[in-house]
Amino acid sequence: MSINEIGHYINGQRVSGERTKVQDVYNPATGDVTGSVALASTAEVDMAVAAAQAAFPAWADMPPIRRARLMNRFLNLLNENKDELARAITLEHGKVFTDARGEVERGIDIVEFACGMPQLLKGDYTEQVSTSIDNWTMRQPLGVVAGITPFNFPVMVPMWMFPVAIAAGNTFVLKPSPTDPTASLMMADLMKEAGFPDGVFNVVQGDKVAVDALLEHPDVHALSFVGSTPVANYIYETGAHHGKRVQALGGAKNHMLVMPDADLDKTVDALLGAAFGSAGERCMAISVAVLVGDVADKIMPALAERTRALKVKNGLEMDAEMGPIVTEASHSRILSYIDKGIEEGADLIVDGRDLSVEGHENGFFMGGTLFDNVTKDMTIYREEIFGPVLACVRVESFSEGVELINAHEFGNGVSLFTRDGNLAREFGRRIQVGMVGINVPIPVPMAWHGFGGWKKSLFGDAHAYGEEGVRFYTKQKSIMQRWPESISKGAEFSMPVAR
Ligand code: NAD
Repeated sequence: MSINEIGHYINGQRVSGERTKVQDVYNPATGDVTGSVALASTAEVDMAVAAAQAAFPAWADMPPIRRARLMNRFLNLLNENKDELARAITLEHGKVFTDARGEVERGIDIVEFACGMPQLLKGDYTEQVSTSIDNWTMRQPLGVVAGITPFNFPVMVPMWMFPVAIAAGNTFVLKPSPTDPTASLMMADLMKEAGFPDGVFNVVQGDKVAVDALLEHPDVHALSFVGSTPVANYIYETGAHHGKRVQALGGAKNHMLVMPDADLDKTVDALLGAAFGSAGERCMAISVAVLVGDVADKIMPALAERTRALKVKNGLEMDAEMGPIVTEASHSRILSYIDKGIEEGADLIVDGRDLSVEGHENGFFMGGTLFDNVTKDMTIYREEIFGPVLACVRVESFSEGVELINAHEFGNGVSLFTRDGNLAREFGRRIQVGMVGINVPIPVPMAWHGFGGWKKSLFGDAHAYGEEGVRFYTKQKSIMQRWPESISKGAEFSMPVAR
């Protein structure tokens, strides 16, 4: 099998890079090495930032409507190339093709949002703020901005960032995950085809070396990060130390609280999809079911049966419900969490550890795993596993469930299943989590609402995309003007006040 050499995208072209350091890229369904990705040196990152810096003045000066028209062309090209992008995701990430398509579509939503940038950039204006003086505010781009993204959404998460940043007049350097780098170059090719000037969108493949080069580069003005909490924390602190704006989205442990009055069949469906979709490798996956009163006894048999029956296959097979785990290392990490769960006394109801998929014996597969009677001091409750493992915790009441969720260090997403509107309203108000679903298991906000968790799930104060994204990638300027004919006589030494 031929190995694909994956490089960078700098100043409007694919470049192979120095390739002094490379990393293997796998097809997780077969276990085969399919590519070799270059890991950028500091000098290569500098080249990408220099290209973005050179492109910035003309790009920032282009009227927003013309930038939006290019974004519209990119939008059309994405729609035409949806399947190719989805296939590239499945081949390197492993998630099932329909899920990969869904990822591309949710990314496309953000591009549509960014096409409205002329409206979003409109400032405000006060005529006659004082006699003969007008005052207005406007928002201007920052300059070169960078995005550092995780393996689990190689198209959607970069699209949380660059369409908004670029439409707002910034130029961009993306540092995607080296685990599934191909889609980043496909997006760069489509940006070029759409007509974006060279240097507006650049991609550097890499690891910590490339990330540190971006963090320290004086010409990079803002960093958006999505990934695990320890790295998010590091990016936030280091970026701030170097005087940059930072939004750093971290890990998660998302709970679903199920009340006895919920529609229990729909709850089981929701739990299966939210826990095992994308093999649990979603920052909004439900990894804890908090079952109130007798709910656990009622749903556990169906939950167990359906978990055992999951169709785990190569994600390119159209009836697959769950694909492989992304890497062998992640596979081993998840297995060791399951071992730990047993050791610490949780009841293992369905054991996914030994699953093998016929014809794919070297793939990184495992089945769905279900634990019951998990308690809050157990490692499998406290830590993010990021795999197809659902931990069920039994509680007596709604309040006990809310207290449990609020005490967790993560606060990304949460869901409540109930038929009681008043309880749902109370839940929405009291829960200490950034994104809340009421009878919606994975409440990923739409493009114009913005995405972000609370507590250790987000460092910084701006959520990704939506109007928060526009504010993050622009700075406000206030202009006060008056014209000579109206200037009053003489110097003024006291604080100007409205007259
Ligand atoms: P990761 O933190 O390992 O990597 C994320 C990015 O940081 C990658 O580009 C990687 O190359 C880089 N990186 C890794 N280690 C680094 C280091 N020591 N210094 C500097 N850069 C480093 O995350 P991952 O495994 O790719 O993705 C899974 C994680 O991302 C999970 O924790 C998941 O919850 C989280 N995630 C969060 C969200 C969210 O919106 N909150 C969304 C998707 C994924």
